[in-house]
Amino acid sequence: MLTFKNVAFSYQTQPVFADLNLSIENGEFSFLIGKSGSGKSTLIRLVYMNYLPDAGEVIAAGYSSRTIKSKELPYLRRRLGIIFQDFKLLQNRNIYDNLAFVLGATGVSSKEIKRKVSDVLTDAGLFHMRFKMPDELSGGEKQRVAIARAVINDPVLILADEPTGNLDPETADEIIENLKKINSKGTTVLIATHNYEIVKRNPAKIYKLEDGKSLVAVTKQK
Ligand code: ADP
Ligand code: MG
Repeated sequence: MLTFKNVAFSYQTQPVFADLNLSIENGEFSFLIGKSGSGKSTLIRLVYMNYLPDAGEVIAAGYSSRTIKSKELPYLRRRLGIIFQDFKLLQNRNIYDNLAFVLGATGVSSKEIKRKVSDVLTDAGLFHMRFKMPDELSGGEKQRVAIARAVINDPVLILADEPTGNLDPETADEIIENLKKINSKGTTVLIATHNYEIVKRNPAKIYKLEDGKSLVAVTKQK
């Protein structure tokens, strides 16, 4: 599903990974933890190939960083659902259009768009909010919209970068539950977070970035 093989990556002057190895199986629900600056967001950007490694290889949803062509990037990204701390909703479009927008680029018919958007909004309990603008929603509601947007293309892998960073603990738990529910239907989920409380409350596989260089896989101990 997702493999990092001996990956090295540096920003211009900032080395982040020297020799990173990681393997995430189909259907996993896991946390990527590590202190601020350890490279969690960078790892996620390497998965959706916003950056390519300096050495080694990333394989995500069947695409390899060694061979992917720039015209294939949209196809990779359609196989992934990506969720951010700050939601990244389009502020000048209502909730319905935020979701329809994602499908608009994929050549889906308008009838099919309407059906898919209605389905994911209903699943998320947000159908009654479809004509609201993002600013009219609470943080938790915005994140639920972002999750609905992430699942609309039936991704094989969901990447969530600090999805609960702007939410109170109770709302954060709801978002994690939401992601667990999606995982229970078969989608692989990887959540990057520095919030150890959330990790403690939710038994899952844990990958920890140490010193921004290596990754140690640990399974939650009771
Ligand atoms: P995390 O998400 O775990 O907080 P990041 O992946 O954002 O960590 O950052 C890892 C390291 O890379 C940090 O030292 C950070 O300062 C640096 N970094 C992140 N983004 C950039 C960038 N665009 N240019 C240069 N350095 C960056
Ligand atoms: Mg980060």
